[in-house]
Amino acid sequence: MAAQVTGSRGRTRPRRWVYGEGVHDEPIDPFNGDPADPAAGLHDPGDDAPLDPLTDVERQDVLEDLADLEIYQALLAPIGVRGLVIECEDCREPHYFDWDLLRGNLRHLLSSGRPRVHEPAYDPDPDHYVTWDYARGYADGVHDTLTEGTDEEPDAER
Ligand SMILES: [Zn+2]
Repeated sequence: MAAQVTGSRGRTRPRRWVYGEGVHDEPIDPFNGDPADPAAGLHDPGDDAPLDPLTDVERQDVLEDLADLEIYQALLAPIGVRGLVIECEDCREPHYFDWDLLRGNLRHLLSSGRPRVHEPAYDPDPDHYVTWDYARGYADGVHDTLTEGTDEEPDAER
């Protein structure tokens, strides 16, 4: 079912590295890190500033998202949902991510501290994507259904 999404590989996608700091299209400074760099000290300090690593709380959030993602995919993929749609605050438009892409992005965020939210699936069909909130609500509903009737004492029916 994800074949169509992976089929976009290799196509030219618009580059939208607008999000966050530290992601640039600019060529790498050949003197970067070289103490003899003639431009040393002239840099805009915000330009090459190392990215802040994720805080423990942020890390935990990402790990929880990853865990949720597993559940959502397990529940929603069988009914035709290919991934999640995320309303991007920077672009002010929805970005569509298939499950694998989402997982990859979250892992990337964990390892590098950088989000990759602007690399959505190519030419997605919006009908096949739901929001985090929808997925969460769906999972809660399934959970409620599964646990229904188990609130009584175990031997109440016997
Ligand atoms: Zn965006």
